[in-house]
Amino acid sequence: MNQLNLTLPNWIDSFLAKYPKIISDPEEQMRFVLALTERNIREKTGGPFGAAVFEQDSGKLVSVGVNVVIQQNCSAAHAEMMALMLAQKELDHYDLGDARFPAHRLVTSGKMCAMCLGNVCWSGIKEVLSSAEPEDVEKITGFDEGPAPQNYNQELERRGIKIKPELLRSEGQAVLQLYVDLGGHVYNATR
Ligand SMILES: [Zn+2]
Repeated sequence: MNQLNLTLPNWIDSFLAKYPKIISDPEEQMRFVLALTERNIREKTGGPFGAAVFEQDSGKLVSVGVNVVIQQNCSAAHAEMMALMLAQKELDHYDLGDARFPAHRLVTSGKMCAMCLGNVCWSGIKEVLSSAEPEDVEKITGFDEGPAPQNYNQELERRGIKIKPELLRSEGQAVLQLYVDLGGHVYNATR
């Protein structure tokens, strides 16, 4: 009972095989993440959230994550957490912003919840691209986004992390709606 092991769904490898290892265009990176999210919904392997870490300049894909909270029995297993932890494992370092590495970007289907916002701050990520807004997540699905600060974007930028929200927002909203339409489970520990 002294070791953690978190795993992404089995279909991830076959999904990744269909995409190039380098995706340079930010919009294409988001389309990739939204397709990843949709796959997680259709496979019924977790909540309607996906994320990926790319090298900021080269567009090289470093890691992906999807929400696997229920499958892994872990409330921390959000898409952004999985992608960030797997990127750190891939680079074998806790700080993705270390001077020896190129800058890294997190691309996420939904703007981070309170927990993932915190991990973004500690992860060494230099830039975030997000699609759906927290209000979309709460309104469409009913998931709680937690106590994120009012000055959300400024808190990131104050720490040297650029954020570009609402990239392909309507596509991000559509993915959330798909989860609801397919009867996806909305879990909220405190509600
Ligand atoms: Zn989260």
